[in-house]
Amino acid sequence: MRLWENYIRNVEPYVPGEQPHGEKIIKLNTNENPYPPAPGVLKALKEMNWEEFRKYPDPSANLLVDALADYYGLGKDQIFVGVGSDDVLGMAFLTFFNSGKPILFPDVTYSFYPVWAGLFGIPYETPVLDEEFGIRIQDYKRENGGIVIANPNAPTGLCLPLEQVEELVRANEDVVVIVDEAYIDFGGESARSLIGRYENLLVVQTFSKSRSMAGMRIGYAMGSPKLITALNHVKYSYNSYTMNQPSIILGTEALKDKEYFKSRVEAIVNTRERAKRRFGELGFSCTDSYTNFLFVTHEHIPAKELFEALRREQIYVRYFGAPRLKDYLRVTIGTEEDMEAMYHFLESY
Ligand code: PMP
Repeated sequence: MRLWENYIRNVEPYVPGEQPHGEKIIKLNTNENPYPPAPGVLKALKEMNWEEFRKYPDPSANLLVDALADYYGLGKDQIFVGVGSDDVLGMAFLTFFNSGKPILFPDVTYSFYPVWAGLFGIPYETPVLDEEFGIRIQDYKRENGGIVIANPNAPTGLCLPLEQVEELVRANEDVVVIVDEAYIDFGGESARSLIGRYENLLVVQTFSKSRSMAGMRIGYAMGSPKLITALNHVKYSYNSYTMNQPSIILGTEALKDKEYFKSRVEAIVNTRERAKRRFGELGFSCTDSYTNFLFVTHEHIPAKELFEALRREQIYVRYFGAPRLKDYLRVTIGTEEDMEAMYHFLESY
């Protein structure tokens, strides 16, 4: 072994869900949206000029930042964009969690949080969710180096009401509180309405789920100008061109079609509510999801066994296997057709 090998950064990486390929696959494992992006996005893609590829992108992604500011009625100094919300969240960890005190996030939540903490050497503690997987606000009223919660939470799908998010932010005005709202468009109330009142609140959202654009990698944060300036300083110290020009253009297009957005979100929510009933009839129980996935457990059949049986049928769902999650599957809401094919198999199984 050479000396340099001792100096390699040792990290425990995040493991993303499988991306299997094939025609007959039913893919319900990574919370993608089963519907196409807005028609305007596909039109803009077809009409895109090669100049957009030849030149460097606009490092400040102004077109998209302006469009998001308009869309939400915020100032452009309140918006930061990045390569999916993973990029935005990673930058936020790097920018804001530097006190040396442990940051707090729930024991069951998005499994990338401990990975970023590990990568950046940020100490952390993980208050335990209650028996029903609920966040206990009182656990976050103690000294800490910052807080991050996913709301709605993943993989549970549960959502804290806005008043409780506000209580958490108000009790922690000396640290930055990040609310990861990757799934907020499918239910719950965004904490965006609070950012004018709390300078320490950063709300992070994505185009990957509700806007069907996971492959384009577009995420954004909304917060006070102080937080956004700090994020930009870190970004420009690492890579000025995080966002590629096609993503900037196509993300902007996606925001224009509010009707389409509303209709697709509604379709997924309807399928989800039907899925809750159908899973119930099949002997499953599930948490009251406000997202585009369900967190389900069967009364008799072990989750791992079901995961493997479904996989053999080319139906992909997510199994985590961690101690508190080992009895559960996370099932993304697909089209009605995909869901029917899954129920059909589960019935026969
Ligand atoms: N936050 C949560 C809670 C998620 O589940 C995901 C999806 N893996 C992300 C953030 C990241 O999504 P993206 O980088 O595609 O925006």
